Amino acid sequence: MPPRDPIRPGDAPLRCDHCGRPVSETRHTRTSYAVDYYSLHSGNGEVCWLSAEDGQRSIAYVKLLDRFDITTCAECYTRPSIRAEREERFHPERAPSPAAADDA
Ligand SMILES: [Zn+2]
Repeated sequence: MPPRDPIRPGDAPLRCDHCGRPVSETRHTRTSYAVDYYSLHSGNGEVCWLSAEDGQRSIAYVKLLDRFDITTCAECYTRPSIRAEREERFHPERAPSPAAADDA
């Protein structure tokens, strides 16, 4: 039987992207839990169209161009400016496009 791999140290601790504090997993007890961080997975995308085989129908989908993950510790999550930044990154399609601004 081959020797087992030596115990390796764990991955680098996950850190808050805003203040840099190391964060830990949610701790559960019998009666409660404590959340230490929130993860946001998002990215930039563009709307694309896919035609059906009959050439009559098409469906729209969002093609992911890049992705990003944001970790926010529980303390930073309470700050309105950080909540707003997270919301903006979660809905990048809401931002007006430069072309739309030129039309105005
Ligand atoms: Zn933080």
